[in-house]
Amino acid sequence: GATLGVMGGGQLGRMFVHAAQSMGYFTAVLDPDASSPAGRVSHHHVQTDYLDAQGLAELARLCDAVTTEFENVPAPALAQLAAQRPVAPAAEAVAIAQDRSAEKAHFTRIGVPCAPYAEITDQASLERVGAQLLPGILKTARMGYDGKGQARVRTREELAAAWARLQRVPCVLEQMLPLADECSVIVARGRDGAMVNFPVQHNLHRDGILAVTTVHEGVLPAAICEKAVAAARAVAEGLAYVGVLCVEFFVLQDGRLVVNEIAPRPHNSGHYSIDACDVSQFDLQVRTLAGLPLVAPRLHSPSVMLNLLGDLWFDANGQRAQVSAEAVTPPWDAVLALPGVHLHLYGKLKAARARKMGHLNVTGATPEAVRATALRVAAILGIAPF
Ligand code: ATP
Ligand code: MG
Ligand code: MG
Repeated sequence: GATLGVMGGGQLGRMFVHAAQSMGYFTAVLDPDASSPAGRVSHHHVQTDYLDAQGLAELARLCDAVTTEFENVPAPALAQLAAQRPVAPAAEAVAIAQDRSAEKAHFTRIGVPCAPYAEITDQASLERVGAQLLPGILKTARMGYDGKGQARVRTREELAAAWARLQRVPCVLEQMLPLADECSVIVARGRDGAMVNFPVQHNLHRDGILAVTTVHEGVLPAAICEKAVAAARAVAEGLAYVGVLCVEFFVLQDGRLVVNEIAPRPHNSGHYSIDACDVSQFDLQVRTLAGLPLVAPRLHSPSVMLNLLGDLWFDANGQRAQVSAEAVTPPWDAVLALPGVHLHLYGKLKAARARKMGHLNVTGATPEAVRATALRVAAILGIAPF
């Protein structure tokens, strides 16, 4: 049988492996961590650094095609693999998604509006920052996720101090926008250019981390949804992208739609698709990689996804419970007694605050019923209502 490979062994890799295996593929994961969520469920686990030439050669030898689950996989590693095997998405597209400056330049090139911003790379560019960008958010150009590597700044003094705290690495300063909502759109594009998209996902972030995703007909005004889908498709088309791509958006208080950032892989805001769509984002990742036909996903149920962060594994005294592969510490029995609740745990061996440990998908007959169940789940687990 054919073997599909993935760079990175986190939860996204694990769900890719599950989807690939259910379609009969063998899988190989490259991740330095012996206990990575994906490595532990894969047929092969190449346990080297992402740039290790021997590890990459081994992965290429094992696999018929390779994808990535981790947007910070070094682009040269993908380039080395691509010399031997089909790689999707391509190193060039991943390199753009890894760098906020390159990403914003791409948005500008294709005419999709993003937040007003300035690149900060040296003292001179820091001093040149226009007053209209404050208050703003300073973000490292590379390597940030879940709000890490970001600082909210109100004044020039705070900006200078924050840049120093971020070690003066290349950054972008974005104007702080008045957000009404956040949403995302996931597309899948094949080698032949065929493209399909998931419905618009409404996202609630807390402390820079995705907390809740809601998806159903009418979750946002139709005009916004049409714009978001068109923009996401244009972003993928403009990159000649192959694979699954997520585009995150802000909906401003004046109703304008602004693109935030892209992720060159399946996305946390698409996890609902496992239980609420007839084809999931991971199924489509497998199809794009294997060159299988793409079909438009159909949402067959309204859905709410709740992220399960590591905080749930700490007791009221701040003590961390013992986490074993699929910990039973939170009251899953009470949660699973409710209709339409689907539990997904990533098999991480250690809980940490703000660490993504799993998620719950709630499905049901109507948006109201799903929301009511999701709110009961949140109350049981001690997740703030939404
Ligand atoms: P991810 O884990 O999604 O990759 P990230 O670390 O790349 O997150 P961003 O998506 O840049 O972070 O920002 C995280 C959140 O912070 C956003 O979803 C939004 O809630 C808020 N935010 C970011 N930029 C702005 C902005 N310019 N104006 C207002 N809010 C913002
Ligand atoms: Mg990001
Ligand atoms: Mg983001």
